[in-house]
Formats: sequence, C-alpha cells, structure tokens
Amino acid sequence: MSTHFSRYPDDDGPEQAPCGVWIGDASDLSSDWSRVDCKRCLKWKDTIMATHEAEESAIVQQMGDMAEFMKREVRQNIDRPWSEYPIGTKAHAVMGGHWLKTVHGWKWCTGSTFPTPGGDATSVTLPSPAGESQ
Ligand SMILES: [Zn+2]
Repeated sequence: MSTHFSRYPDDDGPEQAPCGVWIGDASDLSSDWSRVDCKRCLKWKDTIMATHEAEESAIVQQMGDMAEFMKREVRQNIDRPWSEYPIGTKAHAVMGGHWLKTVHGWKWCTGSTFPTPGGDATSVTLPSPAGESQ
C-alpha cells in the first residue's frame, strides 16, 4: 500500500493519482507530500505542483476576467431622460457613489433624495431583470 499525492484527498469516488495509478482500497491519498510514499508521485512532484499552480492561476485569471466583464456589463451610458429610468436604477457619479431611483426620486447613497441625479452622474446601472432589490 502506498500513499499518492492528491490535492483533494477527501473527495469521494474513484480517482486517479497524478502518477497515473487509479486509486483503490489498497491506496491512500494525501495532500501532504511528507506522507506521500509512492515513488512515481514523488518522482513527478515538481511537474505535479507546477501543473496545479498553472491550473490555479488560470482560475484566478478567469475570475478576474469575469469580474471585469460584470463591471463593464452593468454600467452603461445615460441614454434617456432621468424620468424614464425604472425604479432601482443606479446613477453613478464620476467621483464615486451613486443615486438610486426610488418612487420619490433619486436618492444619493449617503443622503437625501433629489428630483434628478447630479450633473456628475456619468453612467447608470439598470435594475436586474430578476427583480433583486438594490
Ligand atoms: Zn502515485
């Protein structure tokens, strides 16, 4: 019986060790290299770790792209009179902060409600179609 390396040793189900061996009852898995005694896993340690790092940085990159996409997606140019925006629309001020459209008008994020957003509002976020309260 030998212990193979696994990043997720607690996962259930059949699994293949990084060295190519299918894990069965006769094998053990560990994410701790000091407990790994499979010679093939140990031999490939550098490659295995490099692969994991590459996977992780790919995931981080993907999440960054998604956040960037969301940011781009939600803000749009002002394309109509303030009165025509639906309740829940946010108008973003160029210096930060936003007005939120309510039944009473446009409420500044930290203060009062105004008939329209200020002149420094440069973009808007429409309320989500799912009707989330924002
Ligand atoms: Zn192994």
